[in-house]
Amino acid sequence: MNKRGLAANTQNELKLSFPSLSVNESIARSAVAVFCAQLNPTVHELADVKCAVSEAVTNCIVHAYRDCIGIITLNLRICTGGWLRIEIRDRGCGIPDVAAARVPLYTTDPEGERSGMGFAVMESFTDRMRVKSKVGAGTTVTLFKRLDGRG
Ligand code: ATP
Ligand code: MG
Repeated sequence: MNKRGLAANTQNELKLSFPSLSVNESIARSAVAVFCAQLNPTVHELADVKCAVSEAVTNCIVHAYRDCIGIITLNLRICTGGWLRIEIRDRGCGIPDVAAARVPLYTTDPEGERSGMGFAVMESFTDRMRVKSKVGAGTTVTLFKRLDGRG
């Protein structure tokens, strides 16, 4: 903890929790955009971050809590060096094989509207993506993006 009560290397932090209702996907996207405005992102960077968050939150809604409504937690941090860290956590069904799920075009819902590109989008629109999951316990996706402050 530093003097401001924040984790080491953290300059600002915002935590949000909301139920997995589809209306909250756009609210989450907008909240992230407002929060990261402090780093003066370019329009392009902002669009990338919003799109990545949208994919992660949508996954919680449609996969983690497929048959129920559960809580999604968003932890946003601005870290030293212009880094944005976004953690999206659910306590839903979990992913049996994370490595397979990250492969482009992999989906467990081919009959639906899914194309298996969510993780690929999150990965390509950020600098780093970490996925931790446990079946029956939930999934945590952490996205890191460096914003160069030229926006
Ligand atoms: P698309 O995102 O293109 O609509 P998709 O959601 O199937 O399709 P990904 O977002 O890449 O594709 O996710 C791949 C698979 O990983 C999903 O089909 C699902 O089985 C699993 N998955 C992803 N996120 C979660 C989650 N939070 N909880 C449980 N399973 C998940
Ligand atoms: Mg998806």
